[in-house]
Formats: sequence, C-alpha cells, structure tokens
Amino acid sequence: MTNPSVIQTWQQRPIIISGPCSAESEQQLLETAMALANTGKVSLLRAGIWKPRTKPGLFEGMGSIALQWLKLASTVTGMPTCVEVATAKHVEEALKMGVDVLWMGARTTVNPFSVQEIADVLKNTDVPILVKNPVNPDIELWTGAIERLQAANVKNIGMIHRGFSTYGDSKYRNAPLWHIPIEMKRRYPELLLICDPSHICGNRHLLQQVAQRSIDLGYHGLMIESHPNPDKALSDAKQQITPEDLLNILNNLVWRSEQSLEQEFVDALAKLRAQIDNLDEELLGLVSERMKLAEKIGEYKRDNNITILQTQRWNEILEKSIQKGIHLGLSPEFITRYFDAVHLESISRQNSVMYAKKEESK
Ligand code: PEP
Ligand code: MN
Repeated sequence: MTNPSVIQTWQQRPIIISGPCSAESEQQLLETAMALANTGKVSLLRAGIWKPRTKPGLFEGMGSIALQWLKLASTVTGMPTCVEVATAKHVEEALKMGVDVLWMGARTTVNPFSVQEIADVLKNTDVPILVKNPVNPDIELWTGAIERLQAANVKNIGMIHRGFSTYGDSKYRNAPLWHIPIEMKRRYPELLLICDPSHICGNRHLLQQVAQRSIDLGYHGLMIESHPNPDKALSDAKQQITPEDLLNILNNLVWRSEQSLEQEFVDALAKLRAQIDNLDEELLGLVSERMKLAEKIGEYKRDNNITILQTQRWNEILEKSIQKGIHLGLSPEFITRYFDAVHLESISRQNSVMYAKKEESK
C-alpha cells in the first residue's frame, strides 16, 4: 500500500516535480534535492536512473545504485521521489527502494508490449504512475497506455505532456501540439495532467512561457528539470536550470483556477457564453446550407462528367477569404484551417453524390 502522505502530495495542486534529468552522483542529487526543498514549492523529487538514449555511447544513467541516493535525498529532505521506469524490473527495483511515484517515458508509451508489462506488474495497486505522451503525435497510443493501466486496475494514473517529435527545425525540441493534451483532458478529466516544459522546449529560455501556457489551459502541475550546474549536466544540459532559477519561474507564473465563485464574473461569463451558443447555432445552420449547395453542384458535375476538385476555384475562394479574414481580424492560418475542413467535407459530399449515381445505375 502506498504511503498516505504520497497520496496527499499527489492530490496537491499545483503539483511541482523537479530534479535532475539524470542522477549523476550522490553529491549532485543531494545538493539538488536540498536546494529544491528550500524553495518550499517542490512536491516531488525527480531523477532519471535508467536513461533511454537515442544513440549508443551517450550517458545512459547510473542504474540501480542511484536508487540509494534517491532514498537518502528523500530521507534528508522529506520529499517523496519519482523515477522513470521502462520495464517490470525497473518497477520492482524502484518500489523495493521506496520510490513513491513512477513515470513512463515517451519512448516507452509508444510500445504496447512495454506498457502492458508495466501494467501487469502494477496490477491492483495504488502506486502513482504518470504516463508521458508517446514521442509521436498519436493520441490513441497515449490513450491506449492509459487504458492498459486502467484495465489492470492501477488506481493512481496521471499524464505528462512532454511534446512530440517532428522532422526538421523548430523552435521547440518537441512540438507541444496543444490540441492533443487538450483532447486528453477532455477524455480523462479526472486524471492528473502535468506539463513538462523542459522536454518540450529543449532550452531554458522558453520554459517560462510554455509553463504559463499550460497553466492557462488548466494543467494541474509542472515537471521541470533542475541541476546545481546545468551546463555541466551529463544529459539535457541546455534545458536544465538551477533550483534558484526554478523558484524564479514559479514565482513569475500566474496561477489560475478553473472556476470562480465571484457572482459578477459568473454572470458576465454566462452572458457571453449564451451569445457564443447563439452564434454557434447560426454557424452550424449556415455550414449545413453550404454543404447542401455543394451537393447540388456535385450533381451537376456528375451529370456533366466534370472533376470534383476544381483547383482554380478553390484557390480563388481561399485567397478571397484570407483577405476578408484579415480585415475581420482573423488569422490566415485559422482561415486556411477552417476552409481546408470545409473543402474536404464538400469534396467528400460530392464524392457520395457521384457514388450514389453509380449505385443507382447498377
Ligand atoms: C526525462 O524525463 O528525462 C525523459 C527522458 O523524458 P522523455 O521520456 O519525455 O524523453
Ligand atoms: Mn531529460
């Protein structure tokens, strides 16, 4: 059974997890832990012990011996601890050494065999486990990992958003793709959702803004890597910060709650939402009218053997709408996304119209 104080920590909001990317030595871990404890703001001490690295030859973590350092750091500071696990053996060793919370790394969530192995070893327990998003932007893999743990009756599951691999240059190490965690929050409103700005950003300069963005979206906490001497870190040096810099970031964040008890605010919000509901209803009606017209056009195209896709017409619509949108204060990106969705649906409707004709003439 998990220690009740860990469950209290787990339920704390915001929950702040920090510590080095990798435990490198007893001295480094103790120094980090004590500085973090002194901030009075960190709920859980993290450290990587078994590090899944992209290429061989890189620092792969200190392994099991570091569990003793973590235990010592916890005894000295009173902070519960958290490590990454990728196999049943990792889970068993970590729990035996008193680690309080586990997390599944992004390279593990992608592999259903590994996820199942971890679910099996945690079956029917209340050991808290945080599931990082998979490296690739596949929401069903992330959901699948949660479902495997739930099916094994693992009782304390949470999620960590650490961003997604993309090909080519980007200002982020892992693109946040915020719509994916937003959808996960919709699917699992009862699960803890933590943001890991360190692995999203890949550098320390963007941490503050990504952390704030996650709080604005109603995340329950943050996991940020810290190190007494970040530039000398054996892994993820560019994104780590000192415990002092962490405290600065935390102090500069605007924390928000999901609900307000202020009647004036509640009333004002309700009025604006009613207006939005009316406009949405109107928009739905208009989009439906538009689709009916597209179907009519589909019938003419069918009867005259004309292609469904008319690139020139499509370009005209898009360009005209982008220009109009700019005047109305709508971004070209949004207009393009909106019209792409509308256009794809029109094409699909017109396809159905053509297909229906074939069916009838059989
Ligand atoms: C980490 O937290 O140090 C780590 C390896 O993270 P991820 O699985 O997100 O790459
Ligand atoms: Mn790391």
